[in-house]
Amino acid sequence: MAGEKKKKIVKTIKVDADKCNGCRACEVICSAFHATPKYSSNNPARSRIRVIREPIRDIYLPVYAGEYAPAECMGRDKYVIDGKEYDECAFCRAACPSRDIFKEPDSGLPLKCDMCEGEDEPLCVKWCLVDALTYEEREEEVEEEAEEREDLEIGLEALADKYGLDTIMETVAKMSMSKKG
Ligand code: SF4
Ligand code: SF4
Repeated sequence: MAGEKKKKIVKTIKVDADKCNGCRACEVICSAFHATPKYSSNNPARSRIRVIREPIRDIYLPVYAGEYAPAECMGRDKYVIDGKEYDECAFCRAACPSRDIFKEPDSGLPLKCDMCEGEDEPLCVKWCLVDALTYEEREEEVEEEAEEREDLEIGLEALADKYGLDTIMETVAKMSMSKKG
C-alpha cells in the first residue's frame, strides 16, 4: 500500500564553484551564527560549510556538512572536471573518521548544516558577495517519512561510537549522582 503523501519544502543551496574566490566569508558567518551565545565568536573550524582551497591550482570548492558517518568508506573517488583534478573526498559532505572537517574542534562531535534554522535565508548565501551560493526553495509532495534525527541524537551516537555505549551510560550515571549531591 502506498504511504501517505505530505507537502515538504525542499531547501537547496546551489554552489557555483567557478564564481567562488575562496574568501571564506561563508565559513566566518556560519561559525559566528552557531556560536554560543550567537555571534560571540567565530572560528571557521566550527563552520558547517568548508571551502576546499588550492590557490595554486585555482580551486575553491565550497562543501556543506551533511550526514554523520561512523566509519570510513571502503573506496575513494577522484574527479577531473574541466582539466582540474579534485582530491579524494573533496565533494563528500560526511563528518567521518578519515578527516577533521565537519567536527566540532573541542568535542569532536559531528557538525551538520541546518540551513540557518530560523533565518529567512541561509547566512552563508547572504554573505557571499560574488553569488557563488544561491538559495532556492520549492514545494514537493513526498511520502510520509520518519522525522529527521535531532542533532542531540546524532551527537550521542558519535560519542557512543567513540567511547562505547557502556562508558557513556556510566558517565551519565556518575554525573547524575554528583548533581544530586
Ligand atoms: S563566501 Fe562565496 S566566494 Fe567566499 S569562500 Fe564562500 S562561497 Fe566562496
Ligand atoms: S546554511 Fe547556515 S548552517 Fe548551513 S552552512 Fe550556510 S551558514 Fe552554515
